[in-house]
Amino acid sequence: MTPTMTALELLDDIDDPFDPRPSVDIAAATAAARDLLAALGADLDAPGVAETPARLAAAYSELLTPRPFKLTTFPNDEGYDELVLARGIPFSSLCEHHVLPFVGVAHVGYIPGDRILGLSKLARIVELFARRLQVQERMTVQIADWLEEQLQPKGVGVVLEAEHLCMSIRGVRLPGSRTTTSAVHGLLRDDGRSRQEFFALTTG
Ligand code: ZN
Repeated sequence: MTPTMTALELLDDIDDPFDPRPSVDIAAATAAARDLLAALGADLDAPGVAETPARLAAAYSELLTPRPFKLTTFPNDEGYDELVLARGIPFSSLCEHHVLPFVGVAHVGYIPGDRILGLSKLARIVELFARRLQVQERMTVQIADWLEEQLQPKGVGVVLEAEHLCMSIRGVRLPGSRTTTSAVHGLLRDDGRSRQEFFALTTG
């Protein structure tokens, strides 16, 4: 697989721009953050806290804004038909119920059809769906569906493992517990050998 990966990486920067950024009103977010913190009993006159509402607004804006990237697919001229897998892509997202982070890794793989994707783009696709209010199950399915739609591969599989701060530092308080979710399509769902290979490489 290594020579293929290198060729793909070299081709990575030749595409159409794709800009998923939402519109953000930082001034309104800063005012709202000030109100929220005050309502929660924070002393906004304490030393060091004067700029906190602005910092909070900026931090959440960053966590909710994926970086734009160039969407890159290529014809699969060499007819590569084995699993292409990016393991351990780190991500952080925000749970839509508590707006607290969930943090973990994504394993994203596909068996190419007629189109292939620059490998570094798999990480950017994870970021595209992580940097919004999310639930882990939906994010897993969105990444798989997106790849299915864009590449029409013979198979696609996504596994996410994450620790949810809303479970580990509040609520049930289970630090270190991780949640695993998966979504598989095509051969990675229906073909026993491909499915087994994918899950052997991504779990356990
Ligand atoms: Zn939550």
